[in-house]
Amino acid sequence: MNQSNQTLRNIPSVNALIDALQSRFSDVDAFYLKQHILSELDAVRQNPEDYPLSRMDKAEFQDWLITHLNRTFRQLTEGSLKKAINATGVILHTGLGRAPLNSRIAEKLHQITRYTNLEINLNDGKRGERNDHLSPLLRILSGAEDGLAVNNNAAAVMLMLNTIGNGKEVILSRGEMIEIGGSFRLPEVMRISGCKLKEIGTTNKTHMRDYEQAISAETGGILICHPSNYEIQGFTQSPQLEELVRLGHEHNLPVVYDLGSGSLLSTQRFGSDSEPQIQQIVDQGLDLISFSGDKLLGGAQAGLIVGKQKWVQKCAENHLLRALRLDKFMIKLLQETLVCYFKGEDKVSQELDALAALTMDRKALKERSLNFVRRLPEEIQSCFQVVESTGKVGSGAYPTLRLPSFALRVQCKKHTASKLARLLRNAEIPVFTYIENDFIQLDLRAIDAEEETIIQATLTDLLK
Ligand SMILES: *Cc1c(COP(=O)(O)O)cnc(C)c1O
Repeated sequence: MNQSNQTLRNIPSVNALIDALQSRFSDVDAFYLKQHILSELDAVRQNPEDYPLSRMDKAEFQDWLITHLNRTFRQLTEGSLKKAINATGVILHTGLGRAPLNSRIAEKLHQITRYTNLEINLNDGKRGERNDHLSPLLRILSGAEDGLAVNNNAAAVMLMLNTIGNGKEVILSRGEMIEIGGSFRLPEVMRISGCKLKEIGTTNKTHMRDYEQAISAETGGILICHPSNYEIQGFTQSPQLEELVRLGHEHNLPVVYDLGSGSLLSTQRFGSDSEPQIQQIVDQGLDLISFSGDKLLGGAQAGLIVGKQKWVQKCAENHLLRALRLDKFMIKLLQETLVCYFKGEDKVSQELDALAALTMDRKALKERSLNFVRRLPEEIQSCFQVVESTGKVGSGAYPTLRLPSFALRVQCKKHTASKLARLLRNAEIPVFTYIENDFIQLDLRAIDAEEETIIQATLTDLLK
């Protein structure tokens, strides 16, 4: 028996451990403390080498165990999901929760914590549709005949596919056979949506005649997918949207577009002249178009569908919707986000935090970075340099688009770049940075004033 295993023989009784924890967590029922203790003891017994047991005597071990149980239970009660600061320069960072939400919008949630008219029509007191809270806004903003919202864009794509092609074939170009974030692979999504994938063309070229030849009595519709997180460059070809819509409609088939990260703003605002705006896609006459609520729209997680009334209604009547519908909080957040767009491009791109970060003026960013350094204690100012850099949109939106940026480079002798990155990530409020040429860099684009103060305090602590 090795040393660790011998140490494990000194585990006190479970009741003694419960008593030890109960003094710290007086409002927790002893039953749950016991569950926690048993599960932690299991983990320690199964992988003793992961814990510093081998050099401990009995008393040290028992102290360590109680501290360990206290710490792990405190982590559970504090909740693992917490605020983080995004200095990575990737604005719609999926790992960090995509679009930051405007706090004025988030505060509106307080109004609806209790009961709401979620599914009641206030005029006649009869049953209403939860989608009625969003569809009028989607219609006006996108120019489409109708709109619908679900949990996320992956759900929107499933709902559209199941509505047009359950048991039928859906045509998709091999150039658009995408995988996003590892878990959204179109062939799988087609399968679980009940459709048969009808692949056509090649990775780099798909012609109009490929679509024409694929249409048969088995066809349910045509899917077009925006290749969000990659771009095929060079010898490529795909038909114009307009031609595809005409072809579909000649055969009475719906044409559906997964836009991924649709923008209601003209995309030149983000420095892109090749990406279409949602309203332009709507004008092409597609039957259904879907996009995410928390990508370039700048709202909360949701999937939005706009398009022809006939097809949006079919989606709304699909029983699958019951499993994909939004709750009242998400509806409220989306409503407020969409209403913000009524103020016009200039105002909305300042008011929605994600859009403000994406469209921030480069000169202003440089000024802000310089001021950031000036406000640090003098002794650590020399660790910082303001350098030219590039930010990214993130979330697979606009893969080739770079946001010309300025970043703070940290040159510090005290810690290596990877150690400093880890210390920042493990701070009370985690700060996420990136490493470039072996230096930590911080991009202030997606940082608000309060967060700037937090970063300054954290950096001062770590570098002093
Ligand atoms: C992001 C994306 C999705 C998935 O959207 P979620 O809102 O993350 O579910 C699907 N299709 C495309 C083209 C995308 O870019």
